[in-house]
Parts: sequence; structure tokens; C-alpha cells
Amino acid sequence: MIWQRLSPIWRTCIEDAWEAYAHNSLPHGAVITDAEGTIVAHGRNRIREQIGEGRQIAGNRIAHAELNALLVLDWQAVNVYGCKLYSLIEPCPMCIGAVRMAHMQEVSYAVRDGGAGGTTLIDKTPFFNDGHIHITEPQDAELETVLLGLQVEATLSQKHPNPEAWIDLLTSKLPIGKTLGYALYESGLVPQWSREGKDAGFMVDQIHEQLLRLK
Ligand SMILES: [Zn+2]
Repeated sequence: MIWQRLSPIWRTCIEDAWEAYAHNSLPHGAVITDAEGTIVAHGRNRIREQIGEGRQIAGNRIAHAELNALLVLDWQAVNVYGCKLYSLIEPCPMCIGAVRMAHMQEVSYAVRDGGAGGTTLIDKTPFFNDGHIHITEPQDAELETVLLGLQVEATLSQKHPNPEAWIDLLTSKLPIGKTLGYALYESGLVPQWSREGKDAGFMVDQIHEQLLRLK
């Protein structure tokens, strides 16, 4: 069982991602904590939703989870220099750029993205170098595989364009995520759990069981 060992931060991140899945967007979530580790903002991918919530944006290609978390952050109430962004998947170039523009210095993510991941940009320009962003790569290999499998399944079941080529890039650093994702897609179980209103913890632990069966 994976869910039991996850912190409230990662649970919130995955719950947001699962909500995005229910709205037919790729399952990405993001959480911001203050220097004490308290959750001060969170958001989800809303690319395929028509209406945002509060300051969160929706219905366009830049409605990414990390941007939405940054948009709902109360900048007057927190010291942004001490904040940390947690993202389900490696932030894309736009989102790591937004982290830099926000003057945030700590980023942690749960799943590597060999396609759209943009964290290698953090030493590529003088402005990025001056930002001293510290990246924490995935710390939980089982969780990373489970959530990568979910990404692959969603890419297929939500009928995103050019899925095979995209999945090859996405899973290039962890190919078992591709095997798991295709097995999940063929089972048809993930959309079923979503329709039945199963919670994020159920989803994670069920996918983990599928992973153990693959091994
Ligand atoms: Zn992004």
C-alpha cells in the first residue's frame, strides 16, 4: 500500500491530479507550502475544463497545475522566498519559468518527464542562475512508476493527439511506466474508478497492485 505512507502534501497533489482526470485533463496537480511546510495553495491541470475556480485558469493550453497553484497563492500572506512547489510531474519550461518569476527557490516533483520536463533549464540563462532554484527529483520509485502509469493511461484513454510518440518521450527515463500504462488502458479500470467516484487513495493503491502483478 502506497497511499498510507504519503504525506498530506503529496496526497493533496494526487487528489488534485485525480480531479483533473475526472475532467478529462491529464492528471497533474501542484501544491505550494510555506517555510514551515504548511500547504498554502494548490491547483490542478484545467486545460480541458471550461471554467476555472477563483483565480485558477481553465480552458486553454497554459492552464497547468503549477501555474494554477501560483495563481491562487496569497502573495501578501506568505513569504514567497520560503515557499516550496510540489508538482506531480516534472514542471514544463513554462512552469519552471513561472517558479523563477515568482522568486521561489525550491521545487520537488514525483514523476520524471522525458518529454515536456523543463527543470534542466535552471542553469541555462543568467536570470535562472541568479534564481538559485533547487530541484528535488523523485524520492519514491514505486510512487513514480504508479503515477507515470496513470499518465500513460490518461494519454490513451483521453485520446490526446499523437499518443505513442508522446508516451515514448514521457516514459523514456522509466520504461516500466509505459508497460504499466498500456496494461491499465487495456483493462479499462481507471476511467471506471473515476466514473464511480473512487478516491485518489483507492486509485493509487489499485494501480500499485497492478504494478506488482507485472513484476
Ligand atoms: Zn507546465
